[in-house]
Amino acid sequence: MNILDSLRTIFQEVNTARSLPEVLTIIVTEVHAAMGAEVCSVYLFDETDQHYVLMATKGLRQQSIGKVRLAMGQGLVGLVAAKEEPLNLQDADKHPKFAYFEEIGEEIYHSFLGVPIIHHRKVLGVLVLQQQAERRFAAEEEAFMVTVCAQLSGAIAHAEATGALSKLASAGRGQSKEAIFHGIASSPGVGIGRVVLAQQTMDLASVPERHTSDPDAEMQTFRQALASVKQDMRNLGVGLEGKLSSEELALFNVYISMLDDDSLGGEVIETIKSGQTAQSAWSSVILKHVRTFRHMEDPYLRERASDVEGLGKRVLGYLQQTDEKKKPLPRRIVLVGENLSATELADIPVDRLVGIVSLKGASNSHMAIVGRALGIPTVMGALDMPCAELEGKELIVDGFTGDVVSHATRTLKRAYIQRQREEQILIKDLQKLRDVPCQTIDGFDFSLWVNTGLRHDNIQSLRSGADAVGLFRTEIPFLLRSSFPTEDEQVAVYREHLETFAPRPVTMRTLDIGGDKDLPYFPIEEENPFLGWRGIRISLDHPEIFLVQIRALLRASEGLNNLRIMLPMISNLAELDSGLALIRRAYKELTEEEGYQLKMPALGAMIEVPAAVYQVKEIGSRVDFMSVGTNDLTQYLLAVDRNNPRVADLYDALHPSVLRALKSIYDQAETVNCQLSVCGEMAGDPISAVVLLGLGYKNLSMSASSLLRVKSLMLKVSRKMANDLVNDALSLSDGAEVVDFMSSALEPYRQAKNKPLSK
Ligand code: PEP
Ligand code: MG
Repeated sequence: MNILDSLRTIFQEVNTARSLPEVLTIIVTEVHAAMGAEVCSVYLFDETDQHYVLMATKGLRQQSIGKVRLAMGQGLVGLVAAKEEPLNLQDADKHPKFAYFEEIGEEIYHSFLGVPIIHHRKVLGVLVLQQQAERRFAAEEEAFMVTVCAQLSGAIAHAEATGALSKLASAGRGQSKEAIFHGIASSPGVGIGRVVLAQQTMDLASVPERHTSDPDAEMQTFRQALASVKQDMRNLGVGLEGKLSSEELALFNVYISMLDDDSLGGEVIETIKSGQTAQSAWSSVILKHVRTFRHMEDPYLRERASDVEGLGKRVLGYLQQTDEKKKPLPRRIVLVGENLSATELADIPVDRLVGIVSLKGASNSHMAIVGRALGIPTVMGALDMPCAELEGKELIVDGFTGDVVSHATRTLKRAYIQRQREEQILIKDLQKLRDVPCQTIDGFDFSLWVNTGLRHDNIQSLRSGADAVGLFRTEIPFLLRSSFPTEDEQVAVYREHLETFAPRPVTMRTLDIGGDKDLPYFPIEEENPFLGWRGIRISLDHPEIFLVQIRALLRASEGLNNLRIMLPMISNLAELDSGLALIRRAYKELTEEEGYQLKMPALGAMIEVPAAVYQVKEIGSRVDFMSVGTNDLTQYLLAVDRNNPRVADLYDALHPSVLRALKSIYDQAETVNCQLSVCGEMAGDPISAVVLLGLGYKNLSMSASSLLRVKSLMLKVSRKMANDLVNDALSLSDGAEVVDFMSSALEPYRQAKNKPLSK
C-alpha cells in the first residue's frame, strides 16, 4: 500500500471505532504496520495529574500501558509536547532529556521520532515511533506522522470527551466534577433541560454502547427494522429492473440475504440477547464487519465495506425512527445536533425548547440567528461534544459564555438557576423601556426595528416595542416545510405577519436560500456554497419561483399597505435591475389585469457583498431603501466563512476594515439621499450598535430579544460621544482593540456583564 492508501485506511478505521482505547489501538497498530517500525506508541495528557501517560503501544510491553507517566517537560515525550514540534533522533538514549523506565523495555531502541498531537492549539499527547537501528527517521516518515497526528487529533479529542462522559455517568451524581464542553456563545441566556437529538441519522460509530433490560422488545424492534429494509431493497430492485444488468440487480438479493438470521441478522440477535440494545448491537456487529472487509487483500471485496456500511446506516435509520416514536419528549428540551438548521425546529414543540447546541456552525450561522430570534440560549460549534452519549441527559446551555455542562454538580446547577433568575429580573426591568422614545441624550432620534421570520417570535417582537420589521427572512417559513409553498399558502403566511405589525412597515426579503440555508426539498450541493448559487441568483434563474413569491407578497399586502420588498445578495446592477423589473411586472399584472387594489411597496436592496459597497450610489439611486447585511459583508470582506467554527475567532464585525466599509456605505448613501439601515446581527450587540450610531446609522434592525438591551445603552449615550469614539476606533489595528476600546469607554453606561460560572 502506498502512503496515501495507508492514511486513508487509518482514517476510515478510526471512524469506525467507538471508544478511546479502540481509537488508540487502531492508530498504533495501523501506523506500526504502515511504517514498518518496530515500536509505535501513543501518550496522552492526563488533566487530573498533568502527566503524559502511555495509552497504547505496539512493540513495547503491554503491562506498561497506563503506568508510564511523564510530567510536563519530562523525558523526550514531555519535550516534544512542550516544544510543540517533532523530535527526530538517531540516538535517543544519548539525549539529555531521555528518561529511562525499566518496565517498558525500550532500552534496545535507539532511534526515536515523536510528533505532538495538537487539537485547537492544545497538545493532547504525543505519537512515537522507535527503532533498534541507530538511524534518523526519513523526512517522508516524519511528514507521514505529522499528517496522521494532525488528521486524527479531532477524533482523539472526541473519543476522550466520550470516555470522560461515560466515567461520569458510572460515577453517579455528585461524586465527581461535571463535564464541560466549549462552543461559541450564540444567543444569550441560560437554558436547563434534557437533550433531544435532532432527527439526523447518526453515524454507526457514534451510537453509544447501551444495555437493555428488555431484550425481547429490542429484538422485535430490530426485526421490524430488518423487514422494512428488506422491503426497501426489494422495491428498489423492482424499480431498477431493465435499468441495471442482471449481475447488478443480483446485488440487492445479496444485501437482503446478508440481513438473514444465518448472516448479520443472527449475529445481532445474539448480541441483543447478551443484553445490548438493538441500535448498540447492530452498530457493533456492522462496524466489525466493515473493518474486516476493509482489511481484505482483494480490492473488489475491500470495496464491499462501503456496501455493508450503507446497509448498516439504512437499518440504523429505521431503528432510530422507531426509537423516536417510542420516546415521550421532555418538558424542557435542549435540542442537540451535529449540524442544526432551522429545519429541525419543525420536529419539536418550540414552546418547550430551552436550549440549542450544534456541534457545527458559528454565531452567525442561520441556526444561531433563529436561536436569537426566539430568545433561546444557543451554543454553536461545540465540536468535541459527544452528542449521542448525552441523549436524554440534563444539560445546561450557557449562551453567555458558550459553555455546555452535563452532569452538573448541585452547587453549579444552583449558580446557574440563580443566573436565570437575575436574567429574568433584567428582562422585566428592560420592559419598562418599551415605550420610551428612541432618542440619545443629545436629542438624536434613532429607530430600532426587528428581524423576524418565525411565527413564534412575533409576540416577542411586539413586546419589544419595535418601530418596524427591518428584515423578515422569507426563507424561514420555506425551510420548515417539505415542499415549495403554493402562492395562496404564501399569501396566508405573509398576510399574518403583515397584519400583526400593521400599520408598522414590514420589510420582506425575497427568498435567500443557498449558503447554509438549504431547503430540504431543493438541495444545492456545492463546493463553495457561500460563493455560489445563493439569494437573488437563484431567484433570477427561477423566475417561476420568484414571481410566485412576489405575487404572494403583493397580494398579502392588499389593504394593509405596510409592505416593503428587499432583494438579497445583490452583487451587480444587472441583478438589481432584473429583480426590480420582475417586481414591477408582477405589480402591473396584479393591479391592471387582475384587479387587485395595491399600493406599490417601497423597494430595497441589501448591501452585503463587497462589490455592492463600491456601488452604493448607483444602487441607492435605483431603490427606495438599502439595508446593510453585516453578517455576509463581514464574511466576504474578511474571507471568513460565517458558518465555520474553526475560523470563528477571525470572524469580526468590528474589524476596522468592516468599520471603514460601513462608513463608506453611509457616506455614499447620504449623497443620493437613500434611506439606510443595518439588519445584520451586529446591530443587536449593544456595543456594536453604539459604533453604528457613531458611524451615522440611525435605523438598526435586530432580533427582538436584543432590542431592549440595545435601547437601554443607546438611551444613555450621546451621538456626539459615539461619533468621537468611532473616529478613534477607525484607526485602531484590529477588532479586539476596537472591542477593548469601546467596552472600556462604555463601561460606566452598561449593566453588569455575565461572567463564566463553569470555571
Ligand atoms: C446579513 O447577511 O447580514 C443578513 C442580514 O442576512 P442573512 O443573515 O440572512 O444572510
Ligand atoms: Mg445575508
